Amino acid sequence: MTKQIYNFSEGSSQMSNLLGGKGANLAEMTRMGLPVPHGFTITTEACHEYQLRHNLSAELLQELDQALDSLSTVTGKKFGAAKDPLLVSVRSGAAISMPGMMDTILNIGLNDESVSILARLTGNERFAYDSYRRLLAMFGNVVFGLPETAFDQILTDIKKAKNYDSDLDLTIDDLKEIVSRFKEIYADSDQGEFPQDPKEQLLAAVNAVFDSWNNHRAQIYRQENHISEALGTAVNIQEMVFGNFGQDSGTGVAFTRNPSTGEAGLFGEYLINAQGEDVVAGIRTPQPVSVLQVSMPVLYAQLLDTAQKIEAHYRDMQDMEFTIEQGKMYLLQTRSGKRTPTAAVRIAVDMVQEGLLTKEDAILSVEAESIAKMLHPEFDPEDLKKHQVLTNGLPASPGAATGQVYFTSADAKKASDQGIKVVLVRSDTSPEDIEGMIASQAIVTSRGGMTSHAAVVARGMASTGVVGAHDLEVDYDSKTASVKGQVIHEGDWISVDGSSGNLYLGQIKSRDAVIRGELSQLLDWAKQTARMGVYTNADTPKDFQKALDFGADGIGLTRTEHMFFKSERLLQMRRLILAENKIDRQDPLSKLLAMQQGDFYEIYRLAAGKEVTIRLLDPPLHEFLPHDEKEIAAVSQQTGLSVEKLRARIESLKESNPMLGHRGDRLAVTFPDIYEMQVQAIMNAVLRLHDQGVNVNPHIMIPLTNSKAEMGWVRRLVVDKIEETMAKHKLSMTYTVGTMIETPRACVVADEIAEVSDFFSFGTNDLTQLTLAFSRDDVASFMSDYLKKGILPADPFQTVDTQGVGQLMKIAIDKGRRTKPNLDIGVCGEVGGDAASIDFFEKIGVSYVSCSPYRVPVARMAAAQAHIRNRTAKVALV
Ligand code: PEP
Ligand code: MG
Repeated sequence: MTKQIYNFSEGSSQMSNLLGGKGANLAEMTRMGLPVPHGFTITTEACHEYQLRHNLSAELLQELDQALDSLSTVTGKKFGAAKDPLLVSVRSGAAISMPGMMDTILNIGLNDESVSILARLTGNERFAYDSYRRLLAMFGNVVFGLPETAFDQILTDIKKAKNYDSDLDLTIDDLKEIVSRFKEIYADSDQGEFPQDPKEQLLAAVNAVFDSWNNHRAQIYRQENHISEALGTAVNIQEMVFGNFGQDSGTGVAFTRNPSTGEAGLFGEYLINAQGEDVVAGIRTPQPVSVLQVSMPVLYAQLLDTAQKIEAHYRDMQDMEFTIEQGKMYLLQTRSGKRTPTAAVRIAVDMVQEGLLTKEDAILSVEAESIAKMLHPEFDPEDLKKHQVLTNGLPASPGAATGQVYFTSADAKKASDQGIKVVLVRSDTSPEDIEGMIASQAIVTSRGGMTSHAAVVARGMASTGVVGAHDLEVDYDSKTASVKGQVIHEGDWISVDGSSGNLYLGQIKSRDAVIRGELSQLLDWAKQTARMGVYTNADTPKDFQKALDFGADGIGLTRTEHMFFKSERLLQMRRLILAENKIDRQDPLSKLLAMQQGDFYEIYRLAAGKEVTIRLLDPPLHEFLPHDEKEIAAVSQQTGLSVEKLRARIESLKESNPMLGHRGDRLAVTFPDIYEMQVQAIMNAVLRLHDQGVNVNPHIMIPLTNSKAEMGWVRRLVVDKIEETMAKHKLSMTYTVGTMIETPRACVVADEIAEVSDFFSFGTNDLTQLTLAFSRDDVASFMSDYLKKGILPADPFQTVDTQGVGQLMKIAIDKGRRTKPNLDIGVCGEVGGDAASIDFFEKIGVSYVSCSPYRVPVARMAAAQAHIRNRTAKVALV
């Protein structure tokens, strides 16, 4: 027969599956020789059996008797005896902590007779009756299901009648009255009297704790936190120590470091003359533990010493529960303490410096995704509490911004020019809106997914963005938006949380963040540790500078079409697209050439030798064309084309599936002069820097290729232009021309494409769109249903779909490297900045990732973690 009960001296922290987290750590602390009251743990396996049979087995009951006997022996008291009774606590404890979800009962063993014996033996009648009233309330609530409020009400009534401020004012007579009134609650219920037999109390309490595994709130908690139903809870039975004995007693919670800032030193709260849940329940206001230093200096020193011992032992910040009984300290629990991302980073770095952790331990101890939360402005938590969520959408670009609502780019720009803080709210955005987007603190759309135009641009600009807020209806005519009948007018204040996707009415204060101190140190270690490089997707010198500040290795993707969004450039771009022949294209091309070479010059200059990959134009043409009559009229005026001609040209360029249309290198095949102009702009920038003594080795990337023939053709175009310029200027330099891999076909024929390509970079946004047949601009309408119904594990535009898209990537890597064993292979779609995806990319041998500036530190941590995790476990099958 398997053993179902373990004495604390028999277990260890390695046994949390069997003993639950609390039981395993009580055992570990006992083994360490720390002052833990004696006790034992009924295993989670006993819980499984209980769930099947709905009662405690005869074997378990027998083991329980033996365990109680040994407990009596070590404590010198006897459970169930009237003389010097042994009182115990019964506490739940699952393998994964589920704070407050299951039940606890203290002071079991007290009854009408033993309460007066306890009073006499201890000479402390108040304490004895205080303990009894606590037992009656907890047992009544947990075991008999009597409402907690009924017990609370009696306490409140008595305190009110007697004008008391605190529970501490209750006299012995009051407590006796409370006990008798509590018993009346039992008598009035259909559960019957409070059981006087200690053994009956104990068994009922164990049953109740096992039952509490399946209470409603525990079930919901498990669902929310993906905790397995099969785990079950253990039950800890422990000799009581009494924090409610008097002024020399108390109970508290202490963290070994500050869980909010990570600062070293004890942090916590305690209450004098109190028991169990009083600290957490907020019945009285607790004191900071630092006060103990003055009021009980010896104990404080002991607590500090214990905290250091426990922390050094677990090599992690701990959250401990302690009780002081008549000046003596006991430990009732320790567990790994929950902490903010800021605290996590500081603790990790400090612990390396203190010799508690290795650098790799420190890197693994911080959740990579949590770094993002440290880098953006965030709402002041206190101020946030005062505001209600208006609605929410997808958290497209993190940050916290407050501003006044405007519905058009022009209005937003005008207001911003007048010094107004603006939030641009639209149903969706197009390149038309870029000026308004630049002028805004935040961008909100009611449509679109995480890779929609608004989302990509917002992240690229490191602006706060929430997209796909479905409940938001925008009415441009009346310049209003509404959420379920609540109307927002132009100029109203709104606050946007790009990290949670929440929108709030009104202004909320925010605070800023930068990389320094411990975070900077941790990221340095991550950089030394990671195998993969971390580059950025940046389209402007400003984005690039931000990414460099965040430690980017260079630029992995410059979307050159984004350089045409500013109004003067948009006009030239439109003239270019609308031109019907090569001659008409010449003028806009020469204007764009002048502008682009300036951009490239700036970017190369900033790069100071770091690698920069420039992608040639990949414009979904529709994004650049005017849509409504008003815009058409304006463009007609700007370009000098008649409205009729313009309409006809727009009609001829119209595509049913523009994302599958005339974009990427298809554009180069039909309009080679555009790519030639771009390569010329790059070369002009290189030449200018060369004249200044700065060498640049360009990396030019071709989008959307499908075959060796296509890539070969475009490559020739690019190479010819480069070589021609080099010859003309007697310039010698190395350069590479690579391709994006963004179609399933390109993955499958990657060996052939590699013959004409110097590097690959996966465009996972398009590859996902084309593999799943999910339009990247329209996923918001169904994605949440797929996630809620569990049909998709995650949005594949945010976390790579390892089974589908990921396998195509693996094929492309294998085939590409069969042709060129050292082929550099990056990922520059949005998933390039996602921690879970990066773990997969490490496994399949990706060389580097490239992501928006604010994701660079997250990606760096994730790359280091992925390398540490996968270095030893070389994975055969992914
Ligand atoms: C991609 O498709 O993943 C990519 C990086 O290119 P874009 O998002 O510009 O289409
Ligand atoms: Mg793409």
